[in-house]
Amino acid sequence: MVASVAIDLALDRLFTYEVPAELAEKLRIGQLLRVPFGHREARGFVLGIRGAEPANQDGAGFALKPILGIEDEAPFFSKPVLELVKWISQYTCSPIETCLKCAVPGAVLKPNARPKERLFVEPKSRLSGGAESLTQYQRELYDNLVRVGGGWMQQVCREFKTTPATLRALAAKGAVEVSQKVQRRDPLAGRNVLPTKPLALNDMQRAALETITSADADAAPSRPVLLHGVTGSGKTEIYLQAIASELEAGRGAIVLVPEIALTPQTVRRFAGRFGGKVAVLHSALSDGERYDEWHRIRTGEARVVVGPRSAVFAPVRDLGLIVVDEEHDPSYKQDETPRYHARDVAVMRGHFEGCKVVLGSATPSLETWLNAKRGKYALASVPARVADRPMPAVHLVDLDEERAGYGAPPIYSRFLLDAIADRLRKGEQTILFLNRRGYSRTLECRECGHVVECPDCSVPYTYHLADKCLRCHVCGGWRMEPRTCPQCGARDFAYAGIGTQRAESALRKCFSHARIIRMDADSTSRKNTHDDLLSAFRAGKADVLLGTQMIAKGLDFPNVTLVGVLNADTSLNMPDFRAAERTFQLVAQVSGRAGRAEKPGEVYVQTFSPGEPAVKAAAEGDYAGFAAQELKDREAGFYPPYCRLATLLFRSKDEAAARAWAEMYAASLKTAKGLKVSDATPAALERAEGWFRYQVLLRAATAREIGAAYRWISRERPAPKDVRIAFDMDAQSMV
Ligand code: ADP
Ligand code: ZN
Repeated sequence: MVASVAIDLALDRLFTYEVPAELAEKLRIGQLLRVPFGHREARGFVLGIRGAEPANQDGAGFALKPILGIEDEAPFFSKPVLELVKWISQYTCSPIETCLKCAVPGAVLKPNARPKERLFVEPKSRLSGGAESLTQYQRELYDNLVRVGGGWMQQVCREFKTTPATLRALAAKGAVEVSQKVQRRDPLAGRNVLPTKPLALNDMQRAALETITSADADAAPSRPVLLHGVTGSGKTEIYLQAIASELEAGRGAIVLVPEIALTPQTVRRFAGRFGGKVAVLHSALSDGERYDEWHRIRTGEARVVVGPRSAVFAPVRDLGLIVVDEEHDPSYKQDETPRYHARDVAVMRGHFEGCKVVLGSATPSLETWLNAKRGKYALASVPARVADRPMPAVHLVDLDEERAGYGAPPIYSRFLLDAIADRLRKGEQTILFLNRRGYSRTLECRECGHVVECPDCSVPYTYHLADKCLRCHVCGGWRMEPRTCPQCGARDFAYAGIGTQRAESALRKCFSHARIIRMDADSTSRKNTHDDLLSAFRAGKADVLLGTQMIAKGLDFPNVTLVGVLNADTSLNMPDFRAAERTFQLVAQVSGRAGRAEKPGEVYVQTFSPGEPAVKAAAEGDYAGFAAQELKDREAGFYPPYCRLATLLFRSKDEAAARAWAEMYAASLKTAKGLKVSDATPAALERAEGWFRYQVLLRAATAREIGAAYRWISRERPAPKDVRIAFDMDAQSMV
């Protein structure tokens, strides 16, 4: 018997090993093995098991090395997940080992990873030597332990003011048993999660739920369902009830949420309904927590998994349903190899597992929308908010007009200031959103116009008030604020652009009494502050929450009645064919944070382009109108979803090499049939961390054509040492 094994070094090929007789019985596909590799030992996953190879033609055959051992008898991958991983490897043109590795948390694969064992003290039900063998003190301690049913050694010592030595003495007398037990590292420990009951659904919600659950009437694997529901329409409640019916049928579920939306608030909603059946997987977990959660899922103790994109691989048994919440969210795309899109992976897993898939959004991606229009996906719509709550009234404010009285356009228009003042008076809350990626506040010379840039990246430095230095948001490099212009020597510097810090100080000037919470990458770096800030805001400890995209999604604050978008244009001006779509999504999502409870909401969107269709449609809440127009444009320009698009990114420290390879690839690929290939151009981010970046766009009717062309050229022209080439199928970012 032989096994083909994917070794965990990215070699993109399988190796064949002989299976020793004593392992043959235990060997399973998906297990992790130890195998000899060259002169050392390596680990790898079993992808295939078959009878021995026939000897070579010349009769010599060659001796296969034997497997050394099985690391864990329980397979890490089920058959459907293995199929899924193979599909990702094929589709994204990435090595199979890299794909396997990304489907299991690193914390689980670490050679020394194991459950946490601690000493547990358990009272015996009867005292073997009789009560008189104990001292009075020991007797009291014993009685206390019986009352609480035992506990962890450390806790017992603390609670009953005793020592391990005393407890061991008690054990020697046969009154208690001290033993090693596995202690679960629980990411929700200490959080008080209140149990919730299913709400009575309204008619629209019930119809949507029916569309989702009725899918199991069909014998064939069901079609994915697009749940298109406006913000506040009660989509989460629909997910919860769909999951409940899966659990009743003995099946499990996975819920994907964007990492940013994976706030404790979201987790609480699932844990509140399903209690200990819920496992959470997210980036803030410790290795130990992640290890335990993953094993709870694999053993079937946890049946509902909530997590970001990587949770799509969770080893849930008898999977019945996968929910992808906010399916349009760009964070579902992994930005390193393998560059998979978790929404598409979810649909494929649904296919391999034969389970239901629900994609939910108020602003579906155009890819998903077109699939629904074409009937590839079923469509369930919830066009109104729960309990007849109105959608917020959205006002567009033309920043050009506002400029008139001031010269420079103000950060806050008069309209927005009036509205904030009104909420402060009424004790209602406001969310202010500043869509600033990177260049928040740049240092510009008033004499010569020179902008101080990072020497390694093609972006201006951003000024940080807290430590008064200039930081590069691409590479993290920094320098002190210069006193004179490095170019002309003038001393007259001005800060251009608006950052969250500046927006905050400007607001404090207008409303000295307002309590403001600022939330951005700088204010939320420690582990729990993100949660702390949101909890404080929810508890009414602040009047205004001011932040970046971090606050755009998923948040549900009942007392927020005003939302302000300080500048809607930043995403509109991105060099990306999805710029309009992203702008629409952003404005619609942010607006969705207003008026979610009884009090109606109001939104002010400040923009230099009030006539822009994406901005107008978002203000009117007209998704269908926006989508219809945008789809027309995409079709005319041959852009996704009417074609497949991939990017090739060439990076090198040597600019000429990056350009030459990009040009050579572009020229060669242009000869491939059915492919539309762009010229090689500098990427929108031309330089990062000292690497020059060039880009080529590939488009074709199918992903297969693009993949085949890429595989062909990377075989013909493998990249030299000094050039890195990254292939990104279905690229979500053109930067
Ligand atoms: P969405 O995810 O669509 O933005 P949510 O699921 O967060 O909406 O629901 C918005 C609010 O409405 C939540 O506070 C939720 O508890 C509440 N809600 C949802 N469904 C119902 C219902 N059927 N009856 C009353 N309240 C509901
Ligand atoms: Zn830099």
